[in-house]
Amino acid sequence: MIKKHKSHQKWSWIFLVLFIGLSVIDFRFGLLGLICMTLPMFHALRGAGKAHCSFYCPRGSFLGRFLKSISLQNNLPVWAKSKKVKNVLLIMMITMLIVGLFHANWHGLNMLKSGFVLFRFMTASLVVGIIMGIFFKPRSWCQVCPMGHGTGLIDKAIKASKK
Ligand code: SF4
Repeated sequence: MIKKHKSHQKWSWIFLVLFIGLSVIDFRFGLLGLICMTLPMFHALRGAGKAHCSFYCPRGSFLGRFLKSISLQNNLPVWAKSKKVKNVLLIMMITMLIVGLFHANWHGLNMLKSGFVLFRFMTASLVVGIIMGIFFKPRSWCQVCPMGHGTGLIDKAIKASKK
């Protein structure tokens, strides 16, 4: 039986604002970004598909809520939504994150630098998401989002393994 999810997207943007606010105060809070990155995959791995994107994601919630009135509402070009672009973005983001964390912990575990790497990573993708949401539809970022794309790939692999 498919479990029904209640959408929390009306208010889940609060977590994103809290995350940014706390991280600015202390970069160590940036480590909380790991939750944001792993939750979509967690839902996919337990067979809930892209439930995180549809019902919980604070970033999706933020983009949908705050860009509605200023968005130019254009459609994202077809090429930008292609698998190739999404795969390149996913590989780029994973590489940037690994390299950043590697450098941050080069001389031993460093929570402050690691937190900063995650904060920078989350904020940079949010800024890109906001710019995209202004020029195109508010949640255009979701059409290329590496986390959403990665989650979709996991979901597909799980479904294929059950056939
Ligand atoms: S695609 Fe990305 S930003 Fe959009 S809802 Fe999913 S995880 Fe969040």
